[in-house]
Amino acid sequence: MIELTRVYHFSAAHRLVSPQLDASANAALYGPCARAHGHNYYVEVTVAGTPDPVTGMAVDLGQIDATVADRLLQHVDHHTLETAPPLAGVITTGEGLARAFWDILAPVLAPATLRRVRLRWRRTRQTGLAGCASTPRRVSGNRECRIRWKCRRR
Ligand SMILES: [Zn+2]
Repeated sequence: MIELTRVYHFSAAHRLVSPQLDASANAALYGPCARAHGHNYYVEVTVAGTPDPVTGMAVDLGQIDATVADRLLQHVDHHTLETAPPLAGVITTGEGLARAFWDILAPVLAPATLRRVRLRWRRTRQTGLAGCASTPRRVSGNRECRIRWKCRRR
């Protein structure tokens, strides 16, 4: 088996809101991330396959790129994440997005096998919070945040 990773970029707006909390509880929990803001996201998609003895290719990268664009990127790039149909009901923390992207992509990448989804993002301005995880922390620069959702199968 060979693993290959493709990196895709998209920009999107979102806000962190739990439907199980009222407005003041959301504001207290997520701070400024409870208000609309944007990020530049980088999604690393790692797939695995066995090299074909005739073509030498383990996976068809053109097919992977087309599938990721069709099933994921067109729904999130320059959209508000909370209104993207594939993300219905998802709290758009890094953890929530990484898991949702896994759920979207894992069933549709065959014959390749999805091995890992990794999400990195930057806030679209230079200062702010270090990311929209459940425990955001203030930082002085435009720090990257990374979340990885990894397959547990062998
Ligand atoms: Zn955010």
